[in-house]
Amino acid sequence: MSEQRTEIASLGEFGLIEHLTKNIELHNASSIVGVGDDAAVIDPLGKQIVVTTDMLVEGVHFDLMYTPLKHLGYKSIVANLSDVYAMNAQPTQVTLSIAFSNRFSLEALEEFYEGVYAACEEYDVDLIGGDTSSSQKGFIISVTALGEVQQDQYVRRNTAKEGDLLCVSGDLGAAFLGLTLLEREKKIFLESPQVQPDLENRKYVVGRLLKPEARRDIIAFFAAQQLKPSAMMDVSDGLSSEILHICNQSNLGCVLYEEKIPIHEDTRNAAFGFELDPTACALSGGEDYELLFTIAQSDYDKLLLNEQISVIGYMTSPEKGKKIITKGGNTFDITAQGWNAFTA
Ligand code: ADP
Ligand code: MG
Repeated sequence: MSEQRTEIASLGEFGLIEHLTKNIELHNASSIVGVGDDAAVIDPLGKQIVVTTDMLVEGVHFDLMYTPLKHLGYKSIVANLSDVYAMNAQPTQVTLSIAFSNRFSLEALEEFYEGVYAACEEYDVDLIGGDTSSSQKGFIISVTALGEVQQDQYVRRNTAKEGDLLCVSGDLGAAFLGLTLLEREKKIFLESPQVQPDLENRKYVVGRLLKPEARRDIIAFFAAQQLKPSAMMDVSDGLSSEILHICNQSNLGCVLYEEKIPIHEDTRNAAFGFELDPTACALSGGEDYELLFTIAQSDYDKLLLNEQISVIGYMTSPEKGKKIITKGGNTFDITAQGWNAFTA
């Protein structure tokens, strides 16, 4: 945070909103009226609109002791865009509502908005509105994202088919290890503030926690290759719980191969440092913002064109259950808390 501290009270609510939103230029054709009126106006232009919203509460979803405000702004937007991509849609607009105590200065909010605008620019979305309030304690953020999809091209969680391939983008478990690491450093700092944080070789996992990206590239790849997953969702609560959602909602079972789960080498090393099983971190971690999807086997050749996509298993009939086959060849039930099976 910068040295200067301007009290929000010196601007007033309208002055603050004006200050934070004065440079907005709307880029999407569907954004007709943005900030400044009683409501925004968007024109779907013949497409279907998807809407998603998420709330982030200080002390519950983020810790400002190790989360820079700019990163928090960026992540607040990205987490919502990830849900839009998970519907196979293109995000186009966001609204952002915030509540904050008098602990927050104008400079702090400017820093937060810097991250918000950086994400809007990166993903070509327009900030078209929001609300501003004070809170008795802490910082509360609510983002709503809107996106567009061609008629009936959206992809739900409940439409996977038996025999479909089970696939995931990118790699998993890193953000969980970034969080574990920062929580450890925070504890050490609180006990002995003179100790410098030890984040050596941990850039990747910390980066994945503090500056996640949404998988716009995967949706673009589907469009370019004329692929349409049969079911899809984003991975925000850990792979195992997301797989169970797709299985349960589609009324299917699945087979997941442990050896196929993509885990970055830095994630593996970080896990070993904490004496954690990397697979367990991927299964039960969170905040990966990758895409989990099922797709017809006949599309396998096209999937090979994208090295960011891993085929990790396949869908079965419901009677076969939801199974993980370990590297050692053992079969376990997939549980929402993925590591029970491994410590058992
Ligand atoms: P109202 O009294 O109708 O709720 P506000 O004074 O809260 O209007 O908001 C005025 C305009 O500023 C609206 O267009 C609203 O969407 C926008 N706005 C308010 N707060 C924010 C914010 N934190 N970020 C972005 N836009 C905001
Ligand atoms: Mg308002």
